[in-house]
Amino acid sequence: MSDLRALLREDLRGQEPYGAPQLDVPVALNTNESSYPVPAEVVEAIVAAVGEVAPTLNRYPDREFTALRAALAGYLTATTGQPLATEQLWAANGSNEVLSHLVQAFGGPGRVALGFTPSYSMHPIIARSVGTTWVDGLRGTPSGAYDLDVTTAVEQVRAADPALVFLTSPNNPTGTALGLDVVEAVHDAAQGAVVIVDEAYAEFARPGTPSALTLLPGRERLVVTRTMSKAFAFAGVRLGYLAADPALTELLRLVRLPYHLSSVTQATARAALEHTGALLGMVEAIKAERDRLVTGTRDLGLDPVPSDANFVLVGGFADAARTWQALLDRGVLVRDVGIPHHLRITAGTPAETDAVLTALGDLVADHR
Ligand code: PMP
Repeated sequence: MSDLRALLREDLRGQEPYGAPQLDVPVALNTNESSYPVPAEVVEAIVAAVGEVAPTLNRYPDREFTALRAALAGYLTATTGQPLATEQLWAANGSNEVLSHLVQAFGGPGRVALGFTPSYSMHPIIARSVGTTWVDGLRGTPSGAYDLDVTTAVEQVRAADPALVFLTSPNNPTGTALGLDVVEAVHDAAQGAVVIVDEAYAEFARPGTPSALTLLPGRERLVVTRTMSKAFAFAGVRLGYLAADPALTELLRLVRLPYHLSSVTQATARAALEHTGALLGMVEAIKAERDRLVTGTRDLGLDPVPSDANFVLVGGFADAARTWQALLDRGVLVRDVGIPHHLRITAGTPAETDAVLTALGDLVADHR
């Protein structure tokens, strides 16, 4: 028997794949999906749109996905007030693939990608997948263990001399949003880098949290990534996107596989984008449940981090892995993100908040 490990690229040996458990449980609050099904009017529009393209599936899809890019530009312009042109948009199968295009184009062997941990666990995995060296920057200021301020961010950028910088706002798994002063300062300090602001959870931010999209004019090296997986309740479609300078999106053509967005995906996403009101209708309700999770866990004597996302990082557990298992035994699946004493809980329906708070209430005396 050949030893496949010996054939594997040396830099991949010993690496762990992404592994959020996919379990069939009554209350699944572990991957920051929406708990709400796609609304009936959107389902109807999708079925009609897919019906229209089905007879044409003998042909490859529109390789430039122009109509979809225009629809995404329209959505961002309408919701952020920042005018964006079709050529500034790029899309792929989930924002994970968008990030993968970015690291293929701007990372690679001999280049450094810098992120600030704890953050989204896929950033280092995607960066390393093309041989980029990953550097773990640190978070933490006197005002908050997971905050990032201009001075420490800039110091770390200067020390790492990166080709890529990952900023995540609101950040996963901490839920904290980033001041635009930090984005600007990092962009200015990282003169040799493409700076990515991962805004997967932007639609859940509390009022007064501006998007880094407003910083795009005049910043050719700045990229803002978004996704339809979270606020749009559309994780199953796999549609992520980015906005950047048209010169940058043009370069991504060099690395994407031809026809990477299927006709079905394009038709589905476009149909959905004609119903953004209905799709985003549950965002306010989810934010209310997120805030209930913060107050509810605090009332139990736990230590939640205030959140701008659709999840809450809760601290105060004696042994996070033991509590994770105890919750699972009660049918509640949350996420152990590997931060000692902390678990991350996705905000779902009111009934799901009740279920997780009841389960935590039952066991907290023995688990704090
Ligand atoms: N960025 C962040 C910060 C995320 O948390 C996630 C999903 N958990 C993604 C990107 C990827 O999402 P998708 O590929 O579904 O767009």
